[in-house]
Amino acid sequence: NPTDVPGLPSGIPEFLVDSGIEELYPPQAAAVEAGVTRGDSLVASVPTASGKTLIAELAMLSSVERGGKALYVVPLRALASEKKAEFERWADFDVDVGISTGNYESSEEWLASRDIVVATSEKVDSLVRNGAPWIEDLTCVVADEVHLVDDPNRGPTLEVTLAKLRRINPELQVVALSATVDNADEVADWLDAELVASEWRPVDLRTGVHYGDAITFDDDSRREVPVGRGERPTAALVDDALAEGGSSLVFVNSRRNAEAAARRQADVTERHLDDDERDDLAALAEEVAGVSDTETSDDLAAVVRKGAAFHHAGLSAEHRSLVEDAFRDRLLKAICATPTLAAGVNTPSRRVIVRDWRRYDGEFGGMKPLDVLEVHQMFGRAGRPGLDPYGEAVLLAKDHDTMDELFDRYVHADPEPVQSKLAREPAMRTHLLATVASGFARSRDGLLDFLDRTLHAAQSDTTERLESVVDSVIEYLVANDFVERSGDELAATSLGHTVSRLYLDPMSAAEIVDGLRAAEDPTALGLYHLVCRTPDMYQLYLKSGDRETYTELCYERETELLGRVPSEFEDVRFEEWLAALKTAKLLEDWASEVDEDRITERYGVGPGDVRGKVDTAEWLLGAAERLAVELELDSVVAVREAKKRVADGVREELLDLTGVRGVGRKRARRLYEAGVESRADLREAEKSVVLGALRGRERTAERVLENAGRQDPSMDGVSAAEGAAVDDG
Ligand code: ADP
Repeated sequence: NPTDVPGLPSGIPEFLVDSGIEELYPPQAAAVEAGVTRGDSLVASVPTASGKTLIAELAMLSSVERGGKALYVVPLRALASEKKAEFERWADFDVDVGISTGNYESSEEWLASRDIVVATSEKVDSLVRNGAPWIEDLTCVVADEVHLVDDPNRGPTLEVTLAKLRRINPELQVVALSATVDNADEVADWLDAELVASEWRPVDLRTGVHYGDAITFDDDSRREVPVGRGERPTAALVDDALAEGGSSLVFVNSRRNAEAAARRQADVTERHLDDDERDDLAALAEEVAGVSDTETSDDLAAVVRKGAAFHHAGLSAEHRSLVEDAFRDRLLKAICATPTLAAGVNTPSRRVIVRDWRRYDGEFGGMKPLDVLEVHQMFGRAGRPGLDPYGEAVLLAKDHDTMDELFDRYVHADPEPVQSKLAREPAMRTHLLATVASGFARSRDGLLDFLDRTLHAAQSDTTERLESVVDSVIEYLVANDFVERSGDELAATSLGHTVSRLYLDPMSAAEIVDGLRAAEDPTALGLYHLVCRTPDMYQLYLKSGDRETYTELCYERETELLGRVPSEFEDVRFEEWLAALKTAKLLEDWASEVDEDRITERYGVGPGDVRGKVDTAEWLLGAAERLAVELELDSVVAVREAKKRVADGVREELLDLTGVRGVGRKRARRLYEAGVESRADLREAEKSVVLGALRGRERTAERVLENAGRQDPSMDGVSAAEGAAVDDG
């Protein structure tokens, strides 16, 4: 029980007991037994929702109690704020928590004063690259979801970062939290850590497959869930859970599907609401709609009003927490989510429905089955401790063969082993440059020696493959002037240092540098196309007919494009050039105030995809700006403006207005049309005109005026000016 745990700051064990942790869960007790509060390293491989976070907290608190400093590494930005909010309850015990989410390329020195810092692995990697001095003070590092070292895109960063932190402080306590995987012992070997592996869960879990008119569970029991004519199985399952007062979490494979499914589930949940719930949901919907001036806000509010929601990486943090809290409070009855929600947000549900077990995979070139590990993580969200007698996780099958396949593939199967992906060339390009730039290695041998501390080395018998990748990456970095070689010595050039700090794939940097050198006064389209050509941008696919459309556009606007158009005979390169052009055109449309609806229709993408492209473009253009400064190129101003326009989705003349918090592209345009053309105008304008342009929303208008620095923003007694209050249509 918590009061028997050694090494914690005084008062904390009692606090835990008071907050409902009367007894440690078995894996937690095992972790304490293994010395996690005495500074010993540990790998905890236990199911989702079985109290891994508390294991980490015990480690961090005891480390702080001994005068140390702890770092909690999360895989997603969304989780960082969630974890920070969770850890803030230790403030009463003089343990301060900080979150590092700022831009890359800063060392955030104020974090030095915090006892616990929460950050993503990318952010930690960049803090190390930027030489944040407090990194040396760390005594305890927690790696949340450490099984993600297996992820081809982001895994290598986590792997290299842990290796660097352990090199900086060889005594560092590492606490790695993992989903249940087969080879957790290998991870423990790599980290020189004790292993706690357990299948224990606080609520029983039944897993099964729905086919026809029933769910068949793993213990061969059945539950009748008939599907009516014209009804979808997911709706029948949500309805069935609600009949017993249970909520449902539905996992689908894309943002667009999550939104569409939420609209359908809302019709089901709506039937189960009582009057009080309707009122509460109406208030919640208002709040959701008020978060931002976007389609997503409106769409989310519309389903929330009926008791359902969608949840995906395209939601803002505010939306996400409103949805998650209301689901935990059981006000929302169903959430349709992409797998991000499974990755650690604490939202248990009576029933989990894995509707899509395949997802489009670009590299694979088609629909690919999800990993067992990923599906088990979703399963793990089933069952609310203390509320549900058990949790139910259900897959859907259309026919008998699929049902058999799903049982074999997911219900009875063990998760895949975790395998390092570090030897891939794109990962190596980035990490070897960073390793040289931050002085962790100064020669080829030094690099190989550093890599010897990675999971990759722990998992492979020979170093041949690694050596050949290292050699070709060194050649590449030298050829592009990021690294200088003299004899055996390797050192980063000034350009190489900048690229490393900017957190760019060196290949992206090389493309950008070449492109910027080609033009003094590039257009926005030219710049968008340039950043869309880099490997850091996922390009849109060319659909049938697109080749003709964009070939034509390519020649029409050839003078704007930076660099030489590949010949049409260079099939693959030309194709990529066009895909980049299509993506760039989307960005140009966005920065020319084309409606989001028009864009999603024109390019066949979801609103979240537009957001994703815009965010990436903003980041890459910010990096391009820095490179232009570094190389003293004339294009700096053009790059900065193109960046701002894409970030805010507006033409040049609105940039001043969109700089005011709460003013998005649509509000800015309406204000501008009403004669309010700048921040300064906002401070002077007739309130009735502002209110009219903001569609009579008083609170919004007040907030906007306040953000613009107006002395007296109150709208009391003001009514919207006639004519300006145009209809929403
Ligand atoms: P994981 O990180 O393993 O997915 P969490 O740490 O989020 O799981 O724990 C899930 C829930 O269980 C949290 O709400 C947490 O407060 C609660 N919990 C953790 N340990 C205990 C315990 N020993 N007794 C009661 N509740 C606990």
